Amino acid sequence: MASQTGAIVQQSLNALMGDPSFLPHLQDQSREQAFLSLAAILSTPNKVHKAFLRITVDSGNVVRIPAYRIQHNDTLGPYKGGIRFHESVSEEEVTNLAALMTLKNALHEVPFGGGKGGVVINPRTYSVKELYLICKKYVQYFSDVLGPDKDIPAPDMGTGEREMDWMMAEYKSIHPGHPYLGSFTGKSVINGGSLGRREATGKGVYFTFRYMIYDFLKAQSSWLAGSTNPFVQTAVAHSNRSLTIAVQGFGNVGSVAALEAYKCSYLHNKVVAVSDRNVTLYNPDGLLIPALIEYAAYHQGDLPASEAALSELGLKAQILGREDILYLDVDALILAALEDQIRKDNVAKVMARIIVEGANAPVTGDADEELTARGTIVIPDILANAGGVIVSYFEWLQGRETQFYSEEEIHKMLYAKMQKTLDGILPAYFGDPNPLRQNCYNHAVMKLSTVLYRQGKLY
Ligand code: GLU
Repeated sequence: MASQTGAIVQQSLNALMGDPSFLPHLQDQSREQAFLSLAAILSTPNKVHKAFLRITVDSGNVVRIPAYRIQHNDTLGPYKGGIRFHESVSEEEVTNLAALMTLKNALHEVPFGGGKGGVVINPRTYSVKELYLICKKYVQYFSDVLGPDKDIPAPDMGTGEREMDWMMAEYKSIHPGHPYLGSFTGKSVINGGSLGRREATGKGVYFTFRYMIYDFLKAQSSWLAGSTNPFVQTAVAHSNRSLTIAVQGFGNVGSVAALEAYKCSYLHNKVVAVSDRNVTLYNPDGLLIPALIEYAAYHQGDLPASEAALSELGLKAQILGREDILYLDVDALILAALEDQIRKDNVAKVMARIIVEGANAPVTGDADEELTARGTIVIPDILANAGGVIVSYFEWLQGRETQFYSEEEIHKMLYAKMQKTLDGILPAYFGDPNPLRQNCYNHAVMKLSTVLYRQGKLY
């Protein structure tokens, strides 16, 4: 577990240990023992699987590609989490992401544990056939430890429904006669996937932001009005006017979150900037998000990056460097690209007062401390970006029942689940000075600790 996640988990454990109402019947000595066990369990993965996938590439060369499946914790159910294809994948990164999945699922009451996979490639440099072989080999190498009741992968950065379809098919041919629909989630709809899964993370990200800053505040305005809590003051200051929003990353999460903000008619939020791996596009009057999505769909996911491309589309925007999006004078910044985007060395330049983690771990621990000290609201990954895994859970359920819901039903169920979590977390957050991330971790760790205790795992 990376130090940041580990440190926050430890703080949650310390708070629980100091709370006499938590497991009150444990005597002092066994109490200490139980907390040492908890810290050990949560700070290390249960299992680390590593393989070198041997692939014959199109040129005829044979390469061996490092690949991981890390199973962090299965206290609450089978391991669950995406498979990332990216050249920066490492064992440490995948382990940290697997731990985040354990906490994310615990926080949202999704009956899964946490796992994550990774393959060290830049998928843009491989042909479709090579990618197909990589997916097949991944399942072959890890087939013993995967399955609908063991470990259920899903898409993550660099993978999508195409890869999940290939992988499920390989799983099916390795395990003939066994249930297979629940072996992978994030599949295409025709292949047993769920309607609404593709948009789920981005929709959930915007829902979390909107619910927290508007709906919840409106409903609770009586007791929040006089609060001196700095986060309440930030939220209240942003709750009764239209906001400017910047979205970093224009992939499956960022583009959908931007579209949700653009379409949310009753709030008049303005998406003034979006970015991708090449550029930032900025227009203080607002960007036409549907046109940009359509452009990206025909240009391998890229935004228009030249004056010529913009004017062909009839769009007006300033073209800035890709990092510039982080430092714009906007109300809210949605981070939906890579991790470690806001760090100690650049946090001073960040002006947004509300930061939403659509990606996993885009704000480092020390940067988060500084933002928190300023009263900036940081809506953490495990709270904001859980839409993907929540609808993965619905997909897994639908596969078991072979009964499928409409897209409208799925999104309704998604919002209801996220709202339930938010209603459980926000009163504590607005009522005490702890950052939202700490509140979320406390909730998740409390759940995991109680279940581990009841299962007799702390002796
Ligand atoms: N990769 C996504 C995440 O980080 C989704 C995981 C899933 O659906 O299992 O939450």
